[in-house]
Amino acid sequence: MKTRPDHSEAAGSAVLHGHGVGPGIVIGVACLHEPGDVHAPEHRIPASRVDAEKKRFATAVADASTELETLREKAGDLPAQAGEELGFLLDAYGHMLKGSRLIRGVETRIEHDRINAEAAVRYEISALNDAFQAMDDPYLQQRADDIRDIGNKLIRHLSAAPQKAFQNLPRNAVIVSHELTPADTALLDPETVAGFVTACGGAESHTAIMARSLGLPAVLAVPDIMSSVQRGDTIILDGVTGTVVINPDQDTLASYRIRRAEFLRSCRNLGRLRDLPAVTSDGTTIRLMANIELPGEIDTILSSGAEGIGLFRSEFMYMNRPDWPNEDEQYRALKTVVQRMEGKPVTIRILDAGGDKLTTALGGSMPANPALGLRAVRFLLSSPAVLEAQLAAILRVAVHGPVRILVPMVCTVSEITAVRECLSAVHIRLKKTRIPVPDTLPPLGVMIEVPGAALAADALATASDFFAIGTNDLTQYTLAIDRTDQEVAHLYNPTHPAVLRLIHFTTGAALRAGIPVSVCGEIAGDPRLAALLVGIGIRELSMAAGSLPRVKNRIRHLAYWAAEEHARQVMSEHDPTRIETMIETFG
Ligand code: PEP
Ligand code: MG
Repeated sequence: MKTRPDHSEAAGSAVLHGHGVGPGIVIGVACLHEPGDVHAPEHRIPASRVDAEKKRFATAVADASTELETLREKAGDLPAQAGEELGFLLDAYGHMLKGSRLIRGVETRIEHDRINAEAAVRYEISALNDAFQAMDDPYLQQRADDIRDIGNKLIRHLSAAPQKAFQNLPRNAVIVSHELTPADTALLDPETVAGFVTACGGAESHTAIMARSLGLPAVLAVPDIMSSVQRGDTIILDGVTGTVVINPDQDTLASYRIRRAEFLRSCRNLGRLRDLPAVTSDGTTIRLMANIELPGEIDTILSSGAEGIGLFRSEFMYMNRPDWPNEDEQYRALKTVVQRMEGKPVTIRILDAGGDKLTTALGGSMPANPALGLRAVRFLLSSPAVLEAQLAAILRVAVHGPVRILVPMVCTVSEITAVRECLSAVHIRLKKTRIPVPDTLPPLGVMIEVPGAALAADALATASDFFAIGTNDLTQYTLAIDRTDQEVAHLYNPTHPAVLRLIHFTTGAALRAGIPVSVCGEIAGDPRLAALLVGIGIRELSMAAGSLPRVKNRIRHLAYWAAEEHARQVMSEHDPTRIETMIETFG
């Protein structure tokens, strides 16, 4: 939804609208985030360390030059014009790394100011930036952006530690950014960050999903946000309605405080359902599971009353780092989660790289159409070492609790068979080396998230131990709507009859084959859709932990016979608008 800011009487006050994606309301302080900014630690160094620090800086410059060379080789694979443009940019970057004012300036600062190299880079970029901005020439101003990029690259090479953006924030910080990638969002600490608002982003993007799982109110796709807000402004985000208020007047502030208190009260009340079962009024039990994006969510998951983890998105282990995690590292991260779940099942999805997640990890340049490219199982089957390391870590962790393995973006039986063969081979190898693994392989299931997979669900059911229906991608691919693109977000409709028919067919295929089937896309966490999904035959729903109490409440007030009848009526309707009305008005 695009709206011009609606400036009210109070000085500097404005109301803007976008897609509300996170739960609740937050009143906080605006903190502007520059994309790509990285944290540069600062400390003084003794005179005796100056030479060593300059050497450390020289190594970072050499590493950055090697990185540029690799990018240059990859640029050769791009279409002619894009390759040429990237080549010019890389040339400019290359010059900046060879005896330029930037490099000389950093060396001088290390020597004269006796500060570490990261801080010297940060100060030098800032000085050059001021000089370029003062030149009143758009071309030269653009060069200031290039210098900032190269400086960030140098800081990344200097800091061996994983990236930590979003540091030194005030309490109740609301991050305001043109865009946040899922990897940026993974760095937000809910202890200090109260919410975020961005100019870009689709309601079902992974950034939106992460906001929900972190329990952060967020509003995406507010085109005018960057020009409407300044650092330190008071800002209200309503993650339910998608409203953003900047510098509210006293009455507005008071009314949002009341709404926030009401929202928190209703969350507390729903929390009382934690230990009650999700059973319809006429006795049908539904298994409610949690989706997990980051290990930090485990406390929220445990207190939500989830019966297990229905979707563990393993991508977080691969984010914000230049290399792939090894088997041991993955084993340790997974073990913590499996042990903390104390015997409840954990469904670990193997790496879903590509699409809007971890695209650069696949080799630097962005493919023309990442959603249709080398994503998920396709990437894993083309990178056996990455697949084997992950499967080995999962097999090792399976001795600590019940684990299931889920394969993303499967389209054909041969893909699941290939993963199963790899799993067996890794199992045999681990057994031979006497590393503890279970005697039998964990269940291996497929995500049904591509229309072709849904239509071939009968065949896939013969080769799978369970299905998890990923309605986020199923909607994206069925309706040809990029889930990250705010321009078409209003057309993204998981209750479009085409999507519902695919869900229905998949559920039927699983039930006929006698394998479990769940829904783990975002619609599983929408209480308004619980009746429809239960009525279609779904008995397991997996969602952000924060959504679980509301869905449980809905199920406990639902009669199964009425849900079945509702599903029958919805499935016989072909008009999306009438379907929406039927869902909204169903008791
Ligand atoms: C989905 O596509 O519905 C899903 C659960 O996977 P992800 O959102 O991680 O792509
Ligand atoms: Mg998906």
